[in-house]
Amino acid sequence: MTTVTASEAAYVVAALLFILSLAGLSQHRTSRSGVVWGIAGMVVALAATVGLASKSITATGLVLIAVATAVGAGIGLWRARVVEMTGMPELIAIMHSLVGLAAAFVGWNGYLDVDASSHGGEELTGSLLGIHHAEVFIGVFIGAVTFTGSVVAYLKLSARINSRPLTLPGKHVLNVGALVAFVALTAAFVARPHIGLLVAVTVIALALGAHLVASIGGGDMPVVVSMLNSYSGWAAAASGFLLANNLLIVTGALVGSSGAYLSYIMCKAMNRSFISVIAGGFGTPAAAADDGEHGEHREISAEETAELLRDASSVIITPGYGMAVAQAQYPVAELARKLRERGVEVRFGIHPVAGRLPGHMNVLLAEANVPYDIVLEMDEINDDFAATSVVLVIGANDTVNPAATDNPASPIAGMPVLHVWEAANVVVFKRSMAAGYAGVQNPLFFRENSQMLFGDAKQRVEDILRSLDALDTPVREMAGSTR
Ligand code: NDP
Repeated sequence: MTTVTASEAAYVVAALLFILSLAGLSQHRTSRSGVVWGIAGMVVALAATVGLASKSITATGLVLIAVATAVGAGIGLWRARVVEMTGMPELIAIMHSLVGLAAAFVGWNGYLDVDASSHGGEELTGSLLGIHHAEVFIGVFIGAVTFTGSVVAYLKLSARINSRPLTLPGKHVLNVGALVAFVALTAAFVARPHIGLLVAVTVIALALGAHLVASIGGGDMPVVVSMLNSYSGWAAAASGFLLANNLLIVTGALVGSSGAYLSYIMCKAMNRSFISVIAGGFGTPAAAADDGEHGEHREISAEETAELLRDASSVIITPGYGMAVAQAQYPVAELARKLRERGVEVRFGIHPVAGRLPGHMNVLLAEANVPYDIVLEMDEINDDFAATSVVLVIGANDTVNPAATDNPASPIAGMPVLHVWEAANVVVFKRSMAAGYAGVQNPLFFRENSQMLFGDAKQRVEDILRSLDALDTPVREMAGSTR
């Protein structure tokens, strides 16, 4: 009894640590401590769970838990160490698939093992048994949807399958039909549990998860990743009810609701309808290319860009996916530092879905020690472009596309974007004239105040740093010779 009380108290501590972790992660400044709170919460939660379990399981069971924990921790450490920042969305998607799979297994176990120990030591009779069976069904359903949905998201994000939306005939009818079947099967299962019904709902949920995500277009993938994050939270909460584990319920609800809210914020940032995205398949086709005439583009060299920067009074850097691919954040941070030393006002403008992961750019810039106070969100900086001398668009494309505001026929029409074209000069760093993630050509490249600096973003920024130094040298030498 004492152990149970201690473990339950530890669960409250762990839940508080998880809430602190979420609060910490919501701001750059506190994000590192947010991670530490999260790790601490997980250590407390694991220790308390093993403490609780040790009352009712054998020594062999404890050894199995230790082996499973060691194997899981080993795989987690290995993957987290080797993953590239550009591969983060895939890693998260495949992690979510494991949460879904675990929830589905817990559900099945809850059905096969309806004894007192499987439900917190309570004797299950009457309506309690009915609730238990509803929990089993809902847990298996959410878990299986999350599992296959996450696997398909992983395959799409890692380009192992085509990221275009799958358009089966009557696909919305299929989705709604699956939901109706789930409700009907749940009622039947609660009334009269039968393994056949559980098999049926598992198969339907596996197919629904795969179909939902397969029918979402590449442009909506960021929302899918965060939506699956939310599903995995609800799947964990469902497992918590089954296992009568309060911490799992609290943690699952935290993940589920924060993931849902993040999906909503991202939908707003991409001008997508949340409901249509989660219903699947209303998404913008990934390769809706625009072949319209846009005129001539102009090129600029690294030396000329350095001169432009030397004479600038204010500079805004808008990074995108290409900065992550090139790993250009370190020279970019160095460039910002050098310009600030010269008295130039330098700030970063971050679009909410720049890169391939929410917060992708913030993480890279933090990694390169860019001060947080010069990293501004799109809404904070969008009105300042008109008064800016030079904007450096480093590997960004869709997030700085004026077609989103100017062209109602554009596939990304209505998506809020960074108004970089309002600045006096815009330099676009990319390797070619290729389109961005949404497959849409960018009229920014053909504007009179825009110039293209072709090549790998990291190399070009390093060239600019060298040119800036070279521009400085004669000044110092002249100063020396006049002394
Ligand atoms: P985009 O994906 O639109 O464009 C990136 C640009 O970077 C490309 O045009 C590419 O041009 C250039 N690039 C690639 N590699 C390099 C390199 N080594 N050096 C220089 N340039 C390079 O980027 P944005 O960040 O502007 O937009 C993000 C897009 O991704 C949005 O459409 C968003 O919806 C989507 N998305 C966002 C997610 C998120 O959560 N943030 C997740 C999934 C998708 P080139 O090939 O010519 O070099």
